[in-house]
Amino acid sequence: MLGLMQNQPLLISTLIAFADRHHGDGEIVSRRVEGDIHRTSYRSVAARARQVGNALDGWGLAFSDRVATLAWNGYRHLELYYGVSGSGRVLHTINPRLHPAQIAWITQHAEDRVLCFDATFLPLIQSLHAQCPMVQHWVMLCDADKLPADTGIPNLVSYEAWIAAASTTYQWPQFDENTASSLCYTSGTTGDPKGVLYSHRSTTLHAYAAALPDAMDLSARDAVLAVVPMFHVNAWGIPYSAALTGCKLVFPGPAMDGPSVYNLIESEKVTFAAGVPTVWQMLLGHMQPAGLRFGSLQRTVIGGSACPPAMVKAFQQDYGVEVIHAWGMTELSPLGTLCTLKNKHLLLTKEEQLAMRLKQGRAVYGVDMKVLGEDGQPLPHDGQSAGDLLVQGPWIVADYYRSPEPSPLVDGWFPTGDVATIDADGYLQITDRSKDVIKSGGEWISSIAVENIAVAHPAVAMAACIGVQHPKWDERPIVVVVKKPGAELSAAELLQFYDGKIAKWQVPDDVVFVDAIPLGATGKMQKMRLREMLKDYRLPGL
Ligand code: ADP
Repeated sequence: MLGLMQNQPLLISTLIAFADRHHGDGEIVSRRVEGDIHRTSYRSVAARARQVGNALDGWGLAFSDRVATLAWNGYRHLELYYGVSGSGRVLHTINPRLHPAQIAWITQHAEDRVLCFDATFLPLIQSLHAQCPMVQHWVMLCDADKLPADTGIPNLVSYEAWIAAASTTYQWPQFDENTASSLCYTSGTTGDPKGVLYSHRSTTLHAYAAALPDAMDLSARDAVLAVVPMFHVNAWGIPYSAALTGCKLVFPGPAMDGPSVYNLIESEKVTFAAGVPTVWQMLLGHMQPAGLRFGSLQRTVIGGSACPPAMVKAFQQDYGVEVIHAWGMTELSPLGTLCTLKNKHLLLTKEEQLAMRLKQGRAVYGVDMKVLGEDGQPLPHDGQSAGDLLVQGPWIVADYYRSPEPSPLVDGWFPTGDVATIDADGYLQITDRSKDVIKSGGEWISSIAVENIAVAHPAVAMAACIGVQHPKWDERPIVVVVKKPGAELSAAELLQFYDGKIAKWQVPDDVVFVDAIPLGATGKMQKMRLREMLKDYRLPGL
């Protein structure tokens, strides 16, 4: 006989069952939509997740049916993370910042059968429920007595009443670890949003990797503030790694402004926090003028957009908080690289260490990376040669969900649309983006969508949307326009033309009129050259 190991599937339910058994009294603290602070434990979350499993069985939801959430970070959302996936259904987290029409499109594409939403989103659901015919049950994440009457939404129940009717006794089902567990749409580039479908296996492996010392270094001694919204790529794996490690979890709810985040860090003695640069910008903007200090915060992972040097410096040097710069994507579950130093770097000066921390970091085990030159050949890992970044690994997308397009993979590797260098020590540095998108405050704006609206204006001959640097939002879109001969058009008129056509925050900040937009040999707009042409451009008011 071969002495093989037990064949236990890696299931998401095992994470919460583990947390229940081994750190059941571990704290979970949430600032709720109601504004109050709610306290619970892994034991209670596990019991209520089992109630969710039973309640979904009660509605007759089939294996792999989709259950959507439109919700902030909080304990009820965490219970759905476990109850939905653990019971064999697919948790579909929806980004509420998308345009309502896009939310309706995504809901239909995913064929969501249940949609659970925070009270904040009641008006949104009232306006779009009729466009979501597949959704049979609507659940508002609130107490029974907080559910308004006459909402016009059919089959609407309160979460508390719904799960109260279900037993806490539930046997988590056993199935293949390659079963789908959650779904997240990314709406960065052209065309319709694309669904990334995660599996129990990919999620569990990612949870292990995220907790490692050279990743987020999570432990039972940590108090973790997940500022990154749980509607973004399973909130960077934290809800799963937290159950695996038993750390205290702190959720900010909808309040991500500087004072709210600061108060939560201090009152809950947070040791580790994760979020996009814009959130930390707001936090520092609150602390610096008031001379506030951190009492407990040790490290912060910053990703989703490039972390500005001044932010790394402020956290490291002024506040003694370690900055872990991270790079990831929805297609990568999301972790690709995190920037922690190696033993030999400890001999470097503070300034040299700071420069290193600006890189996006080293790959975690499970992610392989390569950069290719224009000829498709691999470039040397010399920290100088920049090319297209491709990745491969067990938690990286193979195919988009129900996509009519062929697999995005090239020879088994996923092209990220990022342009990067890799140095001899394996540190990745993102230098540019080949995909046609702008990232503002951690959220995507499709440059093509912005351009299509501009060229629909009768006075516009050609339009190119590019991102320009912004101190708060990292990047903001502007639209560069060539007018039709003899046509009259002002910037204000064109900006007004965007009204109601895309989400307000996606409307460009400015219009720049030019005589010509540089074109390549095939007639494609050359955005790199355009960015170069406008390198001295500053947004109005900055
Ligand atoms: P996430 O929700 O993790 O931000 P997305 O799929 O929305 O994932 O965005 C991924 C893209 O964001 C990357 O391909 C890259 O262009 C950009 N990005 C993410 N992290 C960084 C970073 N640290 N520095 C520069 N760009 C980043």
